[in-house]
Amino acid sequence: MSKAAILQGNIQMVDLKKQYQQIKSEIDAAIHDCIDNAAFINGPQVSSFAAKLADYLDVQRVVPCANGTDALQIALMALDLQRGDEIIVPAFTYVATAEVIGLLGLVPVMVDVDPETFNISVPAIEKAITPRTRAIVPVHLYGQCADMEAILELASLHGLFVVEDTAQAIGADYIYKDGRRVKAGTIGTFGCTSFFPSKNLGCYGDGGALYTNDAIFAEKAGMIANHGQSKKYHHRYIGCNSRLDTIQAAILEVKLSYLDAYSEARNKAAILYDTLLADMSEVVTPVRSAASTHVFHQYTLRITNGDRDALQAFLKDNGVPSMIYYPLPLNEQEAFKGLGRAEGSLPITVQLCKEVLSLPMHTELTEEQQVFITDVIKAFFKR
Ligand SMILES: *Cc1c(COP(=O)(O)O)cnc(C)c1O
Repeated sequence: MSKAAILQGNIQMVDLKKQYQQIKSEIDAAIHDCIDNAAFINGPQVSSFAAKLADYLDVQRVVPCANGTDALQIALMALDLQRGDEIIVPAFTYVATAEVIGLLGLVPVMVDVDPETFNISVPAIEKAITPRTRAIVPVHLYGQCADMEAILELASLHGLFVVEDTAQAIGADYIYKDGRRVKAGTIGTFGCTSFFPSKNLGCYGDGGALYTNDAIFAEKAGMIANHGQSKKYHHRYIGCNSRLDTIQAAILEVKLSYLDAYSEARNKAAILYDTLLADMSEVVTPVRSAASTHVFHQYTLRITNGDRDALQAFLKDNGVPSMIYYPLPLNEQEAFKGLGRAEGSLPITVQLCKEVLSLPMHTELTEEQQVFITDVIKAFFKR
């Protein structure tokens, strides 16, 4: 087999098998410990992982739950919102962000994003605020924080909650104008994250968590995640059953100690991609925000000459996987017809849905693979 052929079969969007091989003995021991002790539900690893994550994030409380979508739902449930209240979200995000809003009988108001960072546009938020607006849900898309200082300013001016969807940005730092740094998700009323296997801190199944610095909201969110229970068989709220599995917590406890190294590996790969794709007029490489570090959950290009779909097919033919996150603005999804509201036209979102292409990005990506991937891209534009 030629070297190119060997490379082709090996390139993954996310290489979870190789990552596991690196930490296999630690992970296997952690899983076996859970099984030996048979504390499958709310075992000691759940609270010890939550405490370690709170420490890592420098946040008062971490409430573990079953997945990132539940984290968003529980956060919104804790805020005492009324049916018909409006929640402002970016139109360019994963469906979960707006889905939970619809599920709770609230109105997702979908606004446009910034053309450089792809994160929610602050002027667009400002235009969308009405007397019924109660919260803003910024998404730290692809691993880089939204403009939180400006968002918080608007929120405090209008008395709004801010719930950060940080499913893609765990470990990223938000950088205030004065240089102060805090972890993504620790700025708003709540931060919500996902431990889906392919996320930057992924477990081996489903998992999620909320963070907050508000003791009252933390307590309430903790109860809501556990059937609204204040003490055993006493239920203060209508809640849900959303637990982080003990085995997943044990895995996450091991992987948390590698999170900064993982972010570093992703940054190294991103910088190499930047270099390899530097002088291509059809390709826009990711723009870094001055207000955030980037943890490159995705390395996402914009293909500006209209050939995105043809490039994706060409990559596939050459054994290179790629993904389109996301092909459709949320307000154009069938599920949201007649439910939410799109604020004016959303030209940036519409454009990004036609232009974005995410390349393989993970902690085990090799330089050789990246050269191969970018050579295929270069070959496509030279045809
Ligand atoms: C992954 C993701 C979620 C949902 O997380 P799950 O754990 O899959 O429920 C929510 N928002 C964004 C932006 C995500 O990327």
